[in-house]
Amino acid sequence: MSAPYLSVDRERCIGAGMCAMTAPGMFDQDPDDGLVLLLHAQPPTALRAAAQMAVGVCPSGAITLHEPEPGGLGAEPQRRATGDEDPGGV
Ligand code: SF4
Repeated sequence: MSAPYLSVDRERCIGAGMCAMTAPGMFDQDPDDGLVLLLHAQPPTALRAAAQMAVGVCPSGAITLHEPEPGGLGAEPQRRATGDEDPGGV
């Protein structure tokens, strides 16, 4: 996939709803459990800034924006750091 795309981790989502408020065309909340629903995995160009903003405002780091590497086949994920990542090492 060469265009940026979004993924969400409903296991991490805490239902804060910031994504749906920031980018309502791309995210919604499940009426049953309040967790994130990804409406469009590939944000159109006009909504990419809002998608990046949603990544930044999500308090649980549940949203990842995968940006294609220049000249590469893969995508480099961007997710907000939450401070509970395993730093590895000692
Ligand atoms: S902002 Fe993050 S925690 Fe809140 S509903 Fe969206 S994905 Fe879930």
